[in-house]
Amino acid sequence: MAAVLVVPAPLLKIRGFLRGWWGMLGSQSPPWAPALAVQGPASLLEPIGEKADGDEAPGFLDHVFWMAAPKSRRTIEVNRCRRRNPRNLIKIKKNIDVCPQCGNLKQKHILCGYCYERVKKETTAIRKQMGIQEGGPHRAPVVETVVLYEGEAPKEQDEGKRIIERSRKRPSWFTLD
Ligand SMILES: [Zn+2]
Repeated sequence: MAAVLVVPAPLLKIRGFLRGWWGMLGSQSPPWAPALAVQGPASLLEPIGEKADGDEAPGFLDHVFWMAAPKSRRTIEVNRCRRRNPRNLIKIKKNIDVCPQCGNLKQKHILCGYCYERVKKETTAIRKQMGIQEGGPHRAPVVETVVLYEGEAPKEQDEGKRIIERSRKRPSWFTLD
């Protein structure tokens, strides 16, 4: 049992009386030498007041939410069979082809990423050139557009069309047709 002895201030008068009484009994050292005396193991150290109302121990499921947990360890063989199952492995692609334009590898049914990037870059440059020539997208004429590269002259059928001039050589992949 734990016994906590605290001597508050109003009891100091009684303390002198108790000390004399203890001396009459013949004991040498008074038991209240330290103000706080604890007898018993530290695990039983509890406030006395709370002991009265909550006497029962905390329940098994009071503060813990138990979730499903594995009952036994899975061996490394079982784990490897699961991880290296053929359906979990990356499939080998057999539809890889060489791009006829740039020579990079690409999938057969998919646009070449490198070529797509080049076309995107050139298209952005053409749009920028349009902005420089006309001063804004709202001033664009409602006619067909012809892009002329360095060293090219407008043909007869380009009469009246919107002509965008680029200051570079025509790329090999940017054909006239
Ligand atoms: Zn390509």
